[in-house]
Amino acid sequence: MSAYCGKYAARQECCPHRNPGEGYPCCDESTGTIGKRLSSINVENVESNRRALRELLFTTPGALQYLSGVILFEETLYQKTAAGKPFVDVLTEANVLPGIKVDKGTVELAGTNGETTTQGLDDLGKRCAKYYEAGARFAKWRAVLKIGPTEPSQLSIQENANGLARYAIICQENGLVPIVEPEILVDGTHDIARCADVTERVLAACYKALNDHHVLLEGTLLKPNMVTPGSDSKKVTPEVVAEYTVRALQRTVPAAVPAVVFLSGGQSEEEATLNLNAMNQLKGKKPWSLSFSFGRALQQSTLKTWGGKVENIQKAQAAFLARCKANSEATLGTYKGDAAGGEGVSESLHVKDYKY
Ligand code: 13P
Repeated sequence: MSAYCGKYAARQECCPHRNPGEGYPCCDESTGTIGKRLSSINVENVESNRRALRELLFTTPGALQYLSGVILFEETLYQKTAAGKPFVDVLTEANVLPGIKVDKGTVELAGTNGETTTQGLDDLGKRCAKYYEAGARFAKWRAVLKIGPTEPSQLSIQENANGLARYAIICQENGLVPIVEPEILVDGTHDIARCADVTERVLAACYKALNDHHVLLEGTLLKPNMVTPGSDSKKVTPEVVAEYTVRALQRTVPAAVPAVVFLSGGQSEEEATLNLNAMNQLKGKKPWSLSFSFGRALQQSTLKTWGGKVENIQKAQAAFLARCKANSEATLGTYKGDAAGGEGVSESLHVKDYKY
């Protein structure tokens, strides 16, 4: 254990993972990314429409009971409902912690075949302090890796692990709990065994770097991809995804980490829920909670149902509530498939080389 634990433990007053049955929806799309979402329903990408979508989500009656924290984009951290109430207050009054995306996106790693590194370290300490002041209590940083004939390269594994560790310790120095997100993209023809092999190498490198950088693991969350076959390969059952994913985690993620909160990575809403449910049904050693931090797989049917129209808000909120409840049940392994009938919930959300 690092010499810094005592110092930082004092600041981890709020590791966001509190109750089984709760997740961390990812509502942190940058202005450009939310623009793509809004244009898919023919809604203009202006502040009032972005605010309206976020208000719809955060004020869905009954939804916040299924959530520990919500990851926000900077604009949303400072935004208010139409009635003038800060979103941060809407969340904290419901005992949901506001989180903040702090990375500044990816750039290509020179000399590689299109691999990337994540930007945003330079002024990170200052920004974390400012976000803490504004009510944020945890943060997210997304590193992106890909599977190819010779990818991920050792350079990209090391560079991304190191970036995540620098980010994590800077967050902890400023009182924010870091979500460590090394996403291995699903793009490709590889099988599930190759995804498992790469996931294990990447996670092992991340935990080596987190330890080298004196990060207090008890005050972190891991946000990985699930272990699945590539997008151009034959699908496998949720039970197989569960077996490979849990084994990859058992081999690489220390028991000190309180929770693993998965991204959905282009899976359909229902697929992501069923996979999470199967992991929580699986018998075996699982010292961490297994929960959800889906972006696309939590919002897609809600977005489509809303379509930017006031008269659809109630129906859209019902769709969001159904997904939050289904995923909450999946964290307990008790999901029975009763949200499978919702409109569009089985549609694949995969986009090749997806950029957040
Ligand atoms: P998806 O669930 O849409 O993959 O997004 C999660 C996320 O955090 C990406 O950074």
